[in-house]
Amino acid sequence: MNSLQQSRNQVIQQIEDACKHARRNVESVQLLAVSKTHPSESLREMYQTGQRAFGENYLQEALDKMESLGDLDIEWHFIGHVQRNKTKHLAEKFAWVHGVDRLIIAERLSNQREANQAPLNICLQVNIDAQDSKDGCQPNEVAELVKRISQLPHLKLRGLMVIPAPNNPQAFSDAKALFENVKTEHAHPEDWDTLSMGMSGDMNEAIAAGSTMVRVGTALFGARDYSKQA
Ligand SMILES: *Cc1c(COP(=O)(O)O)cnc(C)c1O
Repeated sequence: MNSLQQSRNQVIQQIEDACKHARRNVESVQLLAVSKTHPSESLREMYQTGQRAFGENYLQEALDKMESLGDLDIEWHFIGHVQRNKTKHLAEKFAWVHGVDRLIIAERLSNQREANQAPLNICLQVNIDAQDSKDGCQPNEVAELVKRISQLPHLKLRGLMVIPAPNNPQAFSDAKALFENVKTEHAHPEDWDTLSMGMSGDMNEAIAAGSTMVRVGTALFGARDYSKQA
């Protein structure tokens, strides 16, 4: 067995154990393979183990990989910071964008999604634990954003995405509570099914709190080497 197959099996086992421990159905948590900085050949190898959903943070790097992996049926997720002037490529090339935190970004993505494409899946990024970083809307802005964004025609607003600081499991519970509370604001509440939280170091805690999608890089591909980044 090659090493990517082995690491993926281990991560899937860890997700299953965390689900059992939390008395949750193992199918209720999806694995997103975070492949930033890793070469296309590693994604191809990971794909051959059965992985279909891949998450990328840097637009140009992702576009290059899409080109060289065009023969594969990959579901591409953008999980990086969304810049206002880069929304067109995101709208056209990705299946999911997790880092939406302003109405103007959502409006641009909806306008730029081609009418003949399936709606673009969106998660609202929330700064759930009051970090200084400028990414993510504030928790008290979420209800209004859900109300407005869920009415945009070429988007499917699926849920929330959070990246709390390490060792703060309370942030996951706060995100879960917010996720449940704002559902009533959604124009299409049946679309509201995704809580994107948990990474290599904290997926157990995230699953215990109700994550439905863990974004895992290091535990699948090994440590990242940013010096080789495209
Ligand atoms: C890089 C990244 C991850 C993966 O982190 P690991 O610790 O390598 O699992 C998950 N989510 C986001 C938003 C990231 O940028």
